[in-house]
Amino acid sequence: MRVSRYFLPVLKESPSDAQIVSHKLMLRAGLVRQTAAGIYAWLPIGYRVLQKIEQIVREEQDRAGAIEMLMPTIQAADLWRESGRYDAYGPEMLRIRDRHDREMLYGPTNEEMLTAIVRDELKSYRELPRTLYHIQWKFRDEVRPRFGVMRGREFLMKDAYSFDLDEAGARQSYYTQLLAYLRTFQRMGIQAVPMKAASGPIGGDLSHEFIVLAPTGESEVFYDAAFEEFDWQQSDLQYGDAEGLQKLFDQVSSTYSATDETHDESRWATIAKDRQRTGRGIEVGHIFYFGDKYSAAMGLKVSGQDGKPVTPMMGSYGVGVSRLVGAIIEASHDDAGIIWPESVAPWKVGVVTMRQDDDASVAAAEELYGNLQLAGVETAYDDRDERGGAKLATMDLIGLPWQVIVGPRGVAGGTVELKRRSSGERHELSVESALARLT
Ligand code: ATP
Ligand code: MG
Ligand code: MG
Ligand code: MG
Repeated sequence: MRVSRYFLPVLKESPSDAQIVSHKLMLRAGLVRQTAAGIYAWLPIGYRVLQKIEQIVREEQDRAGAIEMLMPTIQAADLWRESGRYDAYGPEMLRIRDRHDREMLYGPTNEEMLTAIVRDELKSYRELPRTLYHIQWKFRDEVRPRFGVMRGREFLMKDAYSFDLDEAGARQSYYTQLLAYLRTFQRMGIQAVPMKAASGPIGGDLSHEFIVLAPTGESEVFYDAAFEEFDWQQSDLQYGDAEGLQKLFDQVSSTYSATDETHDESRWATIAKDRQRTGRGIEVGHIFYFGDKYSAAMGLKVSGQDGKPVTPMMGSYGVGVSRLVGAIIEASHDDAGIIWPESVAPWKVGVVTMRQDDDASVAAAEELYGNLQLAGVETAYDDRDERGGAKLATMDLIGLPWQVIVGPRGVAGGTVELKRRSSGERHELSVESALARLT
């Protein structure tokens, strides 16, 4: 990408309508623009990040055996009357009428729709278990949309739904998603701690929220530092390994973590002081077992092994894909701007010429940019005729993991400067070694 031909409207001043750092930085770095209260346009650089996050979520869902599909945003009110939620959902649901005066709604979630699809298509116990998911825009008419994309009204969510023949199977599906979530968030370079959520309509221990620590989070959280040490990627745990998944669940359950809703002071007091982590947290995901709540209400049945009808047990599993863009920035920034973890960065490298009017610098930068592209390294090349200092400030603001700074003095001696955004470390290197480091 050449910055001179790109669409990157950065702001010098911090916008006054933004209260939290991620919202300010998303506006300043040109990631989003609000088009109506709680509704955002994703500008090119923001959209790249959103797609990176979406792709990690997708890969980990696929790896866990969930099957991707796509359901529409607009739903029929009658579908929601079947579960009884049309009236129960309240003013957060955006209700719409079409030209024939039919009642419709913009989906806040999809339990009803998928339950109906599965009810119509699956007939036998042999076709279960299945977990299906989609990544689709949702609308919730939040009373107070705020903090930019963190609490928008229109937002992107991954929602998965599992269907099992019995509760034991449903637990396996739940554990599978639990592990998929731990891996998903770890790949994004953030610490998202699973916390037992205040139990839902069914009760039981199968509801966890995944919470990222950030001073602007909406709930207070408490957890054992052990969560910072687990490595969910390297683990040789396979998704089909029932015993291994049970162990994982037991490990998660026995390691203290709680939101203010579930916090237990006496258990907390047994954890060594230097291992107690507290702060405020942002909910980036939520997994939930709800048994036959929807399948029973909506008449979803398959024939069991003995020929008798069985009502499948279900769970649902949400990730706030668009909220994550803000949450990652909350967790990873400094005074100069965003610091993207490499896995979600819009580009890995930014090449900057300090003097676009210096032919030797431009020739070196062009060659470097060409070679990085050839090597498949995602690169933004700031080839604008602007002050070098201003271009470096923009690079810091948009937070690419690596910067290659090309200036007349270095180029004369065959060197460039390589800067790592996260640590600020700079090294003067030959062009070849810089390339070697980045490819
Ligand atoms: P919250 O407590 O923040 O209102 P929720 O518990 O209502 O969220 P869920 O129904 O659990 O949300 O939805 C799954 C995920 O969708 C949440 O964990 C969150 O990451 C995301 N999400 C929910 N509401 C919003 C919103 N208004 N804007 C952006 N993301 C959202
Ligand atoms: Mg909510
Ligand atoms: Mg919540
Ligand atoms: Mg929730």
